[in-house]
Amino acid sequence: MPVVYLKKDRQSPVLRGHPWIFSGATEREEEDGENPAVADVFDAGKNWIARGLHSPKSQIRVRVLAWEKERIDRDFFARRIRAALSLRQRLLAVSTSAYRLINAEGDFLPGLIVDRYGDFLVCQFFTAGMDRLKSEVVAALSSLDIAKGIFERSEGRVRDEEGLEASVGVLAGEAPPDFIAVEESSFKFRVNVRQGQKTGFFLDQRDNRVFVARLARDQTVLNCFSYSGAFSVYAFGGGAREVVSLDSSMRALELAEKNLELNGFAGAPGELLKGDAFAYVKETDRRFDLIVLDPPALAHRRTDVAAASGGYKFLNLHALRHLNPGGLLVTFSCSQHMPMDLFQKVVFGAAVDAGRKVAILKRLGPPVDHPVSLHHPEGEYLKGLALRALD
Ligand code: SAH
Repeated sequence: MPVVYLKKDRQSPVLRGHPWIFSGATEREEEDGENPAVADVFDAGKNWIARGLHSPKSQIRVRVLAWEKERIDRDFFARRIRAALSLRQRLLAVSTSAYRLINAEGDFLPGLIVDRYGDFLVCQFFTAGMDRLKSEVVAALSSLDIAKGIFERSEGRVRDEEGLEASVGVLAGEAPPDFIAVEESSFKFRVNVRQGQKTGFFLDQRDNRVFVARLARDQTVLNCFSYSGAFSVYAFGGGAREVVSLDSSMRALELAEKNLELNGFAGAPGELLKGDAFAYVKETDRRFDLIVLDPPALAHRRTDVAAASGGYKFLNLHALRHLNPGGLLVTFSCSQHMPMDLFQKVVFGAAVDAGRKVAILKRLGPPVDHPVSLHHPEGEYLKGLALRALD
């Protein structure tokens, strides 16, 4: 297997459990053309310290999988995946059949995302090492006996950085139907795992949707960046008077319409609008009691943070201007490079410029099926604020 020796002055994060080893932290690397997937990591004194996924083309050369000399094979993955599954089974309600089974570093399996949609699993392999071990991972997932089929949706920027092509298709068992029927907190949704965004559904917002349902009774609601309408369904479920759902994607709105219908809200007051949320929040002549802002990540890199802050400020400023007195704003950022303290400052700036006095009701984050490794704070991305405007 490949071997990596760390520089003395760069080894301490790894010794404390950070799973990423950057190219700049390695003193020397030995390749192994025949078994390139898994590398052993040694400290500067040549003591063995860890074993991890090797990515020779990436700035992140190794992502640590094990701090003991375990064999990285099907049984290894089966042990880690079984532990993750039993956690979900213990913690999630039976009325939820869609959840994240493996959350990469947060489940000590860097580069691997597995989402469960009822009888189907959808995987994303994001690193070269994990990609090479795909058949072991798929065999481990099959051994759980929980799925009729395993589908792959490995796409996107992270794959490019690892020198990997997109890879989409059936990995095992049956091909998923065009729309998988799932339940989340007893609400029904249709998920398109072949073409939907991410793996088909934004599983990370489940708890925050429950919170929005609690806030929604008798409110007029604007759900910006609605995707397949999940916040809208919960808002109606919570007794909203009217819900306007807005997204730039027609396909997302078609799914939203279907999902409203499935839950008995087909004729409920409100509308589905195709448009740019930035323009809408600025220009609408309506006011709402409750606004949800869940934009896509505006900062993909550290260098985007200033521009992204401007985008978040714009959205929140105009949303606050269109809130009724005493209105509620539930606002999110899913940019990894925008930490909660910065996000809160940006929203504060928006409140000042909007001329409104605002209180935080609750700080929001991801649910328990999206664990974050304490040793890998980079895994934290979703944050939100539930706010109340005074007048
Ligand atoms: N709130 C959703 C997830 C939102 S994902 C949920 O709970 O499922 C972000 C969404 O924003 C995507 O559906 C994307 O189509 C949409 N989007 C991206 N840019 C947009 C824009 N400028 N205006 C409106 N929608 C946009």
